[in-house]
Amino acid sequence: MLINISAIKDQHGASVRGSLQETLDLELPGGADLTGPVSISAEVTHAGETFHVQGKVSGNFQAECDRCLTGFKAPFHSEFQGEFVRTHAGRNSSRTDFDSEKDLPSAEDDLYQFQGDVIDLAELVSEAILLAMPMKYLCRTDCQGLCPSCGMPKGAESCGCEVEEINPNFEALRKLLGREEV
Ligand SMILES: [Zn+2]
Ligand SMILES: [Zn+2]
Repeated sequence: MLINISAIKDQHGASVRGSLQETLDLELPGGADLTGPVSISAEVTHAGETFHVQGKVSGNFQAECDRCLTGFKAPFHSEFQGEFVRTHAGRNSSRTDFDSEKDLPSAEDDLYQFQGDVIDLAELVSEAILLAMPMKYLCRTDCQGLCPSCGMPKGAESCGCEVEEINPNFEALRKLLGREEV
């Protein structure tokens, strides 16, 4: 996941683009896994003190549904950006090309360091993928979970149960009206 910036390193304002497919060994939350290589496209712009990187990553993951426990696959898309500062090999790695602290971009920016002419997108891309993962893994947004009668996912062909859902409000009303049928 490397982008070579040697073509633009002396040209303020110039950019270089790259796109690639990469198989990542990335641990996703909740036991989910990437199901194949991810597609990454990125643009690096020589922004003076830093190299500005922005790009997109997409791919597919597999997970177990939090409600019905069925395994499913789903796509994800995410975007990333960050500022890269060139550091010099052999020096303290916290030292940069900046003359003084005040020249450093604000700490609010995501700041990454690189050496030589190659920027490694691995960290940015990994963070972007983790941010794209849902809070809850659901096989579909209206997944109704497991059937209390047969234990199969509700609505699945394997569950043929007729589950009568009784709304407690209607039940109270029905008693009040003294009728069996509403
Ligand atoms: Zn489900
Ligand atoms: Zn059932």
